[in-house]
Amino acid sequence: MLIYQCEKCQQQYAKVVSVCAKCLCQKLIETEVSDEGELVTWTTIRRAPAGFSVNAPYDVVVVDLTCGLRVTGRLSQDSIPPSVYASVQRITTEEGSPIFSVIT
Ligand SMILES: [Zn+2]
Repeated sequence: MLIYQCEKCQQQYAKVVSVCAKCLCQKLIETEVSDEGELVTWTTIRRAPAGFSVNAPYDVVVVDLTCGLRVTGRLSQDSIPPSVYASVQRITTEEGSPIFSVIT
């Protein structure tokens, strides 16, 4: 999974930023990290906003990647049901949002 890391203080970001919020450095480096992580929590969206209603219901998940960065994404419709501390893996990215699946 591609993340952005500050060259000066090593702060990590899931999305591209122009300035590091921690040290104001403007040099952020694209870094490839493991797609695997641990599920922290999730919520099921049953009444989706416009543009997402075709996918409802779907689960929005919070994942701690193995690199330590906490990210938000969605759970694949094909995934086995989520549970806290479940191991997950990013299987793709849709519209800039990582799509995870629970792995056993
Ligand atoms: Zn920084």
